[in-house]
Formats: sequence, structure tokens, C-alpha cells
Amino acid sequence: MAVTATPLGDGPERRLRSVLGEVFRDLLERPADQAVVALHQDGRIASWSTAAELLFGLTTAQAIGLDMAELYADDAVSAGIPGPDFAAALEHGSTISSEARLKRSDGSPFRANVHLSAILDSNGVHLGFLELIQSLEPAPRPPRRYLETLAEADLVLSSVHDAIFVQDLSGKLLYANDAAARMFGIENGRELVRRTMADMATRLEVFDERGNRIPPEVVGTLADNVDEVNLFYSRTYATNESRWELIRQTHVFDEDGNPQLVVTVGTDVTDGVRARHAERTLSETTKQLSASLDYETTLRNLAEALIPNVADWAIVVCVEDGTARKVALASTDAALAQSLRENWVRLGTNFVVPPPLLRVLETGQAELIENVTRAQLEAFATNAHELDVVRELRVHSIIMAPIIVAGRTSGVIATSRVQSRRQYDRGDLDLVSEIGRRTGTALEHTRLYRDAQHAVRLRNEFLAVAAHELRTPLAALTLQLQSLRGIVSDAEPDAIDPRVPERLQKTIRQANRLTELVDSLLDVSQVAGGRLDLHRRQADLCAIVGAVCERFADEAVRAGSKLSLHSSSPQLGYWDAERIDQVVSNLLSNAIKYGQRKPVDVGCGFENGRATVTVTDHGIGIAPENLARIFGRFERAVPEQNYGGLGLGLWIAQEIAEAHGGKVEVSSTYGEGAAFRLVLPLRPPQPEPSSPL
Ligand code: ADP
Repeated sequence: MAVTATPLGDGPERRLRSVLGEVFRDLLERPADQAVVALHQDGRIASWSTAAELLFGLTTAQAIGLDMAELYADDAVSAGIPGPDFAAALEHGSTISSEARLKRSDGSPFRANVHLSAILDSNGVHLGFLELIQSLEPAPRPPRRYLETLAEADLVLSSVHDAIFVQDLSGKLLYANDAAARMFGIENGRELVRRTMADMATRLEVFDERGNRIPPEVVGTLADNVDEVNLFYSRTYATNESRWELIRQTHVFDEDGNPQLVVTVGTDVTDGVRARHAERTLSETTKQLSASLDYETTLRNLAEALIPNVADWAIVVCVEDGTARKVALASTDAALAQSLRENWVRLGTNFVVPPPLLRVLETGQAELIENVTRAQLEAFATNAHELDVVRELRVHSIIMAPIIVAGRTSGVIATSRVQSRRQYDRGDLDLVSEIGRRTGTALEHTRLYRDAQHAVRLRNEFLAVAAHELRTPLAALTLQLQSLRGIVSDAEPDAIDPRVPERLQKTIRQANRLTELVDSLLDVSQVAGGRLDLHRRQADLCAIVGAVCERFADEAVRAGSKLSLHSSSPQLGYWDAERIDQVVSNLLSNAIKYGQRKPVDVGCGFENGRATVTVTDHGIGIAPENLARIFGRFERAVPEQNYGGLGLGLWIAQEIAEAHGGKVEVSSTYGEGAAFRLVLPLRPPQPEPSSPL
């Protein structure tokens, strides 16, 4: 189709233009607060100066043809042109000056002096009007040329590692450097600026610090969080690259302090965040792994420690004695997890290890499935119920890592994330693999502990049985010896070799000693097995101590120690008299044994509401570093060859004292003797009152 140019006719419009061409040349160069506007006869704008653009906020293209009356805030004038001033200017041919209220394109009013003249040609034909508008308010400043500045700085900004975005207040992207563009899988910033928000949303997914997906429409409004520093995780679909970014946003203000632009700077902090996250997760899981020495509890604790930071679903499957058995399952979806658990309980030994986990059990290799397919997910179901559950899961990313105990793959940890959360990457794979290794170590400890416990139980059982078996013939032997002593003492002196009574006495002493040792062994098995039953009744502590001293009198004499008892009044309390006798006997026999023939003092008294027994010797004493240790089981602080003993007496004494709510204390100067003190409350400790809650 041909286009025909329509030549301007010879009407007033053409003539106005030629007048304007002459008049305006210098008028147009007026200062910024003096706008020059030419109007057609009917008041439509014919010419618009740069100053007018600034004053009214309207470009020339927007202004031409507009009715000037619309730019008056003054109702009288806007009622129509020609208004009174226009009429007067035309009538008198002179310039009418008045103060008027005009309005900018955004509706805000401003005051100005308006000088209005009619434009007539040389024949006096009215062509239009000329308005010189002088603002009475401060001149607007030209807008800062931010974008030009950014374009100039682009060379520098594009070589920095941080991503830089500049948006206007409506969120429109004005500038992006190359690092910013690369986040979207686009080569350079200029190209990114040309993309629409919708296009950008299809290129990048963003997650908050906890791994929850931020909807694309919200990502665009992140510019609202100015002056906050936030941590985000993002993944570029095109390159599958993911990163942690520290995002800081600031406003750029104009001279009047009004915000003009939002500048967003994203710093890649992936390495630091990964390291910190791994460290925190590992320390938490290690804590959970060491919290219990029970196998099943350890694995349950582990699965639960992984939720929700590492996984939405965590399953630990372990192999024991060649058969796989499920051990632990935890999830952010507690109801679904419970349903799976119940199903497993129903299956009992028919539980089948899901094939993908079996694969890891066989290969010992960790696996990362970043984006799981439907078929891959369904492979985890081993029966119809599980298939239903698996289809509901909405899991999209999975990691499986072996648990290696003593060099053998003994289990698998499987963790998975649901679709609303970020998918796993290689950093996560490393983390879960390390958790698998630590789990292996923890399970190894658990196994060793279990074995040790088993061995200790066997030992205690053996001790109990052995002590019992030894006691019976020993009791019979002691009885026989005592009856022999009766026979010997009743016999005529000439009828018996004079060495017999003395040898018989020694034999009886050895039999007694043997009985004591066997009793100690029996006590060990009872105390270690938590079977120390007390038979409390009212007893006089001083009487018990007196009886023990009497029993040990001969032994003290034989050892060359002078035994003195200091006891005043009776000390009554509720104790197991036989057990207290045992404690005092032990302290006294030690004092004689380690007393180096020096005097031994025994005292019975009352102090701070408690009954006390003290046994003081002046023998070898105990080195400070051994004071606490000697109360341990089988602990001794003397050379075996010099002093016989099992190292059990003080341990049993302390256990008995503690069962009474009391204790055995020791003080000693090495080489100068030791003082042992038994402290006993008069009554059993009161049970804690139960809480009203
Ligand atoms: P045992 O006497 O059979 O070794 P105990 O448990 O009674 O076992 O004592 C543990 C250790 O405490 C002793 O081996 C000894 O080293 C130290 N001990 C106990 N009583 C005394 C004491 N009166 N003087 C010095 N050492 C003592």
C-alpha cells in the first residue's frame, strides 16, 4: 500500500510552527525552572521545552497535543480555554502575568508565575498562545544518571565474583552483572536484563536457609527485604549448579533522601555454609550416637537426629547375623512413618530389604539420586502397602550411605527430601557418608560394650556359683576343725603331741581367712549385680564396733599392734548390723595388715547428726594420688608380693555405706599412717516426695 505524505496546509498551524522556530531558539535554552510552552488557538500544546519536561514530569511526546487546561490545578482556569487571561491576552495583545497553580503528571500541584501572550502573525491573525511558566518552587534536579553510571562501571562489576542486581522500586531489573546472569544460566548481565521475570523464574530455584522452596513469585519481591542479610540456597536448572548465597540489599537514595533503586549483592558462601552445616550436623549426630550404648536406641536416636535438617525421611537398616533387619525410621511426616513402622512390625521376620538398599549393602558404595524418577522411587517398595505409601511420599532426592562396622558393610542409612525442599548435592552425599562412618564406629563401640557386659555378667555368675560351691565344703571343714579343737582341748595332755593344738589353731585361722575371701567373692557378685539387700533393724553401732575389736584382738596381738577402742555411749540407729560389722572388720583388718606393728585406734561417736566409726593406724599410709582409687573394684596401692589381698574390701565397704545413705572417707599422710572413717545416718534416707505435677 502506498503511503502518501500529507503536506502541511497553509493554515495557522504551519504558520505557528515557523514563528516558533524563530522565537524558540533561545527561549528553549531557559533555566530549568522556566518552561516555555506554545499552545494552539484551542489551548492544545504545540511545543514543549526541556524545562517543561522537568517541571511537569511529562516528555515532549506525552505533552504535544494535550489540552493545557488539564495541567492547571486552578479550577477557574481549567474550566476552559480561553479562560479570562487567555481572552484578555487576545483582546489587548499584551502579556498577562498572573500567579497560577499548575500540576505535575503525578497530580502534585505547584505554584508558578505564568506570563501569557497571544501569538499573532504579521496580518494580525491569531495563531495561538505562548506561555512562560516560572516555577515559584525550588527547581527540580535532573535525575541522576544511575544507569549510565552502572553501564560505565559494568566493566569492573562484571569481573567481580559477587552477583550484583539493580532494580527500580517496582522490582524491574535495570542492571545485572555477569556473575548475576550466570546464576540463571545466562552468559552476560545485559542479556539477563532483557529477560522477563517469568522467564527468570524458570531458570533458577531458590530455597531458604532451612531448605524450604521459595515460590518464584516471592523471589521477585525479595527486593522488599532491604537492609536485611539473608542466606539462600539456589540451583540453576540449566547447569544443575547449586550454591549458598548471602544476600544483602540496600537502597540507593537521591539527594533528598528518597529511595531510587534497590541494589542486591549476592556473595557465594557455599564452602563456609557447607562446612558449618556439616560440623553442626556431625556434632549433633555424634552426640546422639554416643548417648546410648544400646544398639536399637543408638540407631533410633540417629534417625531422629537427621530430621529435619538433613532429611525428611531417614531409614536405617542393619544386618545382624547375616539377616537384614530394619531398625529405625524417622520422618517429618509422623503419621505416615508410624503406618510404615506398624506394617514392618506386622511383617516381622518377613521384612524384605528394599532392593536399592540391598545394592548398597552389597557394594558398600554410597549413592546419590539427585532427582529420583517414579520408577526409582517405587523400587523402594517391597509390598503393596509400601507401594501405596511410597507413591504418596513426594520424595524427590535420595542419598544412601553404608554403615561399616569392623570393615564389613553392616547397614545402610537412607535419607530423602520431599519436593518442597532442596534436592541433595555432592556436599550432602559427603555428609551422609561421614555420618554412616561414624555410625559404624558407634555401633562397634555398642557391640564391644555389649560383649563386655555379657562377659561381666558371665564373670559375676561364675563368681556367685563358685563362691557358693566353695562355701559348702568350707563350712563343713570349719565345723570339723572346731570339733577337732574341742576333742584336742578335752584330751589328756600326754595323749596328744604338744605341737597339735598350735597347728590346729593355725589351720582354723587359715580356714577362717578362706571363708572371708569366699564371702568377698560372693559379695562382689551380689553388689555388682545390684543385689545388695539390707536387713535394717535397730542396732548399737558402738556395740558392733566393740564386738569387731574383740574378734580382732588376737590378730592384733599376733601382728604386734596395740589395739585401743574409744567408745562412750551407745549409738543407736537403723542399720544392717551384719553388713556394718563387715565394713568395720574390713577397716580394722586393713589397719592391722598395713599398720606396721604400730598402735591402731578405733573410735565410735556421733557428729553432725550422724554416727561415725574411725579406724586410725600409723603404718605405711597411702600416697595422695591413690586416695580415691583404692575404693575402686580390684584396686590396690601396695605391691602384690608384700601384701596379699583382692582389692575388694574397700569397694564393698563403700557400697555398703552408700546403701545405708552414708560413706567411707579416708585421710592419710604417706608413710605415716591412714585414718578411715565410716559415716552413717541414723535412719534410712527419706524417699523424695513425689511432684504434685
Ligand atoms: P586389699 O586390702 O585386699 O588390697 P582393700 O579394698 O581393702 O583391698 O584395700 C585397697 C587398697 O587400699 C589396699 O590394697 C591398700 O593399698 C590400700 N589400703 C587400705 N587400707 C589401708 C591402710 N590402712 N593403710 C594403707 N593402705 C591401705
